[in-house]
Amino acid sequence: MLGLMQDYPLLVQTVLDHAARNHGERELVTRSVEGPIRRYTLSDLHSRSLRVAKALAAEGIALGDRVATLAWNTDRHVEAWYGTMGIGAICHTLNPRLFAEQLVYIINHAEDRLMFVDLTFLPLVQALADKWPTIDKYIVLTDNKHLPDTGMKNVVAYEDWLAPHDDDFTWARFDENTAAALCYTSGTTGNPKGVLYSHRSNVLHGLMANQPDVFGLTSHDSMLPIVPMFHANAWALTYAAPMAGAKLVMPGAGMDGASIYELLDSEKVTASAAVPTVWLGLLQYLQETGKKLPYLNRVVIGGAACPRMMIETLENDYGVEVIHGWGMTEMSPIGSTGSIKHATAHLKGDARIDLKTKQGRTPYLVEMKVVNDDGQEQPRDGKSFGHLLVRGPAISSAYYRHDENILDKDGWFDTGDIAHIDELGYMQITDRDKDVIKSGGEWISSIEVENTAVGCPGVAEAAVIGIAHPKWGERPLLILVRQPGAEVEKADVLAYLDGKIAHWWMPDDVVFVEELPHTATGKLQKMELREKFADYTLPEQG
Ligand code: ADP
Repeated sequence: MLGLMQDYPLLVQTVLDHAARNHGERELVTRSVEGPIRRYTLSDLHSRSLRVAKALAAEGIALGDRVATLAWNTDRHVEAWYGTMGIGAICHTLNPRLFAEQLVYIINHAEDRLMFVDLTFLPLVQALADKWPTIDKYIVLTDNKHLPDTGMKNVVAYEDWLAPHDDDFTWARFDENTAAALCYTSGTTGNPKGVLYSHRSNVLHGLMANQPDVFGLTSHDSMLPIVPMFHANAWALTYAAPMAGAKLVMPGAGMDGASIYELLDSEKVTASAAVPTVWLGLLQYLQETGKKLPYLNRVVIGGAACPRMMIETLENDYGVEVIHGWGMTEMSPIGSTGSIKHATAHLKGDARIDLKTKQGRTPYLVEMKVVNDDGQEQPRDGKSFGHLLVRGPAISSAYYRHDENILDKDGWFDTGDIAHIDELGYMQITDRDKDVIKSGGEWISSIEVENTAVGCPGVAEAAVIGIAHPKWGERPLLILVRQPGAEVEKADVLAYLDGKIAHWWMPDDVVFVEELPHTATGKLQKMELREKFADYTLPEQG
């Protein structure tokens, strides 16, 4: 027997309707790409997004068409995002940090028809437009006054393009399983793969993100999503904030410590989210200037493991609660958060920080388990590690235009991460499966060694890779970048690590480099390091 409830499809445009109706006075503030701060209300956002939808429909964009964005987090990007999805077209966010060949591949694979692009990326468009035959028009997210002469015929300023259209438009209504957004993984090997979100998955994921132990946004919050909209939906924040009626503060292109601090302060930001490198920049700025964070009360840090030192400094010196998050593009992206719960609330000092370095617990709507190589589930004892598998309504079932079957027979998706889960449900990632170091048949967690090493004074960044060893199979090599002006040496680092990690995890050697290679989403590019150090010989151990 079916229930007798209304057939009310979960469509993302209803988020904006709700926000405008109930929180229409709340602000959306943007550091514009042109420079000045721009501010308007959620009611304006709703109206302008409707105008985008109407303008797109006038262009002939229809259900299922792909519309690309190559843009920072700004008001206009949010308008383009909702305007596209609100007519059933698919908003394809592009990561501008991808290599040119990858952008060419992705756009042709997606067959994008239009592109909304920020001024910053116009040179990229001018260089590559010939290779993007499916794109008919480039809509530059600016006004006439700021649009430079590109010499291209199919370029128009966003404000000119929008001007003829009012907001007298009704969103399209369609099945909630209709595709809403497309985001390609950066793909360290092979071509990037398209993750295709649906309206239903985005709405459910936005609600999930607002659970109290995740972002827990309310109408009292002022939220600064530093994580870009092109990095897995800005971790749901462009949905979760308007759902809650939170003020949205968009950082535009300003990712440095000073720019971020300015917004945190002037917009009285209470919650924010970004990858660890952004917080490193902010912490450096705070330490140099002696400034404090009086308004900020919580930050979500994820995308890569959050170093212990960062949690300690933000919590103890600045009074900001750190919520360590883990996830992936294929998971919309939230998988877990390391929030304190009733059973861990008594933890103090180091024990509390230890817990917070774990990637944490799943919110409702994500299931996870750890299995061994034979697929057998491992006990939840905080030490039995294996492959981390996940399941849920906002997790990919397949890649866009790809035959590969990515789920097992029970519908589990292998994340490619190696992890363990403890009795209370807290998961900890020890490695990517392709990065594990196997020494004498046992696994060494490169992530844990790296995170401990960055706590050593003078160390800015760390990577650990396995180097072939005649007796042990592999042994760890620690590769470090010094902080500017620091004189830290191998012996200092080894002395620092001594006692903080298992004796047999101690790196066999430590080398210093000027910089470490990163992927387009800011992760260490270990494959490149393994290639670079392929012929490296470890010193004889005494
Ligand atoms: P990409 O496109 O680079 O794959 P994703 O954001 O989808 O970008 O990457 C997901 C992966 O990032 C995860 O599978 C995991 O390996 C890593 N990751 C994300 N958050 C964390 C975290 N908090 N700790 C450790 N690793 C993380």
